[in-house]
Amino acid sequence: MATLPMVAVVTGAADGIGWATAQKLAASGYRIALLDLRAEAAQSRAAELGPGHLGLGCDVTQPDSVDAAIAAARTLGRIAVLVNNAGIGDQTGPTVAQDVAAFDRVLDVHLRGTFLVSQAVAKAMLHDTGHRAIVNLGSIASSTGLPARNAYSAAKAGVIGMTRAMASEWARDGIRVNAVAPGYVRTALVAELGRKGAIDLPGIAHRTPLGRMAEPHEIAEAIAFLASPQASYITGVVLPVDGGWTAFGAPESALATLAA
Ligand code: NDP
Repeated sequence: MATLPMVAVVTGAADGIGWATAQKLAASGYRIALLDLRAEAAQSRAAELGPGHLGLGCDVTQPDSVDAAIAAARTLGRIAVLVNNAGIGDQTGPTVAQDVAAFDRVLDVHLRGTFLVSQAVAKAMLHDTGHRAIVNLGSIASSTGLPARNAYSAAKAGVIGMTRAMASEWARDGIRVNAVAPGYVRTALVAELGRKGAIDLPGIAHRTPLGRMAEPHEIAEAIAFLASPQASYITGVVLPVDGGWTAFGAPESALATLAA
């Protein structure tokens, strides 16, 4: 019997880290199912990758939408990799002024979304053999305190908890589950936070030991490694990809001033 092509499902794949990851995994030989809220954007990104890839409209917070997208992804071949990347920025501002619906939405996209897509994919993966891996997107907010970003911090800490739980549950079935925890990455999500005045971009560069934000492809490289057979004995870990952000514990004045 002919071997089915290996498929990688990437959520939030139309932009930013998801798009960089889709390109990296396509170059590694996977057929990519690019899931995004914006169906047209996902389809045009799939067309950019070339034949054999599929762009699908999907809201990761909605079970029916997720089930339909995963069923469509399975027409490409065997789902070997899932990258739970879809995400939104936080409402920013004092906790006492925060809106409950906006809080719920952030938890829905990051936590419920990661749960629903993992569940849908695992229903197929658990009956499979061979290489299978899931990579989730944490953040420096998973392990450090970002003032006024409650929902995002809660969601990203939750994603790490879910990563460990799923890794422990599915290890004997041959499915590895890991997370990357990026620092600040040059994407639309961060540009929007900068535009709202919620983050100080030069301050972030100075606070980061490597002295700059990440580019999306630098996060994609780490995701692709954890998703690959080269990471065959790694499961349940959180890999910081943050330019030294979480390692750094001295006053900011201990870092050399950046050239203007
Ligand atoms: P972008 O905003 O650039 O891209 C995220 C993509 O996800 C968008 O295309 C967005 O669509 C899509 N999306 C949003 N909600 C849903 C949904 N409900 N269903 C399906 N797709 C959805 O974000 P980034 O690339 O910056 O972030 C990607 C991931 O990395 C997120 O989980 C984020 O939290 C995490 N991360 C990002 C960091 C950064 O500095 N950029 C740092 C640490 C973690 P639309 O544009 O229509 O909303």
